[in-house]
Amino acid sequence: MTQRVAARRAVHDFVARHQRFLLTTHLNPDGDAIGSEVAFARWLRGMGKSVRILNDSVTPNAFLFLTDEDPVEVYEPELAERRFAEADALVVLDTSNRQRIGRLATALDQHVIEIAVLDHHVSQPQGFGRVNLIDPELAATGELVYDLMREAGATIDRRAAEALYVALMTDTGGFRYSNTDSHAHRMAAELLALGLDPQELYARVHSNAPAGRLRFFGEVLAKLEMRADGQLAVLDAAPEQFQRHGLVGADTEGLVDMPRSIAGVELVALFSEVEPGKVKVSLRSAGRVAIDQVCTRLGGGGHPHAAGVLLRGTRDDARARVLPELEAALAAWNGAAARPAS
Ligand code: 5GP
Ligand code: MN
Repeated sequence: MTQRVAARRAVHDFVARHQRFLLTTHLNPDGDAIGSEVAFARWLRGMGKSVRILNDSVTPNAFLFLTDEDPVEVYEPELAERRFAEADALVVLDTSNRQRIGRLATALDQHVIEIAVLDHHVSQPQGFGRVNLIDPELAATGELVYDLMREAGATIDRRAAEALYVALMTDTGGFRYSNTDSHAHRMAAELLALGLDPQELYARVHSNAPAGRLRFFGEVLAKLEMRADGQLAVLDAAPEQFQRHGLVGADTEGLVDMPRSIAGVELVALFSEVEPGKVKVSLRSAGRVAIDQVCTRLGGGGHPHAAGVLLRGTRDDARARVLPELEAALAAWNGAAARPAS
């Protein structure tokens, strides 16, 4: 039995063994995080289990429509206390890093509870659960949830299908990123066959921003810097800009992807200082130079071609730690490309 099959079986056993589940995901949840939680919750509820979803951060507006029947609660100390006391199992979705569940990690210190971790990020060490199902080959955690539901013969109703489709659509950048493969497309096709409307779901997620977001994008993009002979594009957003446009960190979604349209760009870095002294670094690669190690070394993580880390200090401090590493990665790649293959 392969390791992956064994890990999946362990999740099925875990699900069968428990009755009262608490689900959570990473800070600043994205479409895969919320979509995976909602689908997993519906699967469990369909088996008569009791389920609560509790996250550290609020659900971004773009994904609220997924949670109509499966409410997602936001951390408060007393609420967390109650939810942990009620539950006999915790399922952590879309991260295998204990710190990334935010304040729920402190609650975990106080409660003995069995944990299952389901994720698709490159992870060292392999998760903090009793059961860890971590598959970096998958484009989205939603793919894992979908496979588990299929293996269990679960009914995938319209709401679960929408949640899974949004998970997949957002984590593949609308089926454009390098993680988009035949498995992802097959899953999308199977979900669409259940009657989903891809245009409507795309609009639900991507057509609900305030005008200020686009003005903010305009300002930040107008100051785009090109470095490393045009291979590295750098964007920078100050706390004052977030404030003036009434935006939060989640509103930068998509911004870091825009400079990828520039000819010759291999890497993009966005330094966004939402609150003074806290700089969220987002890195993207066009697919030839891996950048996850840069984030891992600084305490963050992600995928080879999309990674991030939260750094304390000024944006200048963050730039000084990250940009030389990116330039070194580019230099190494250019050097390797210049040498004839042996
Ligand atoms: P984004 O730049 O869109 O926020 O994140 C890109 C990828 O990097 C995502 O897969 C995300 O999970 C991961 N990532 C972003 N920020 C962090 C972080 O602070 N820590 C870790 N471990 N991963 C991160
Ligand atoms: Mn994901």
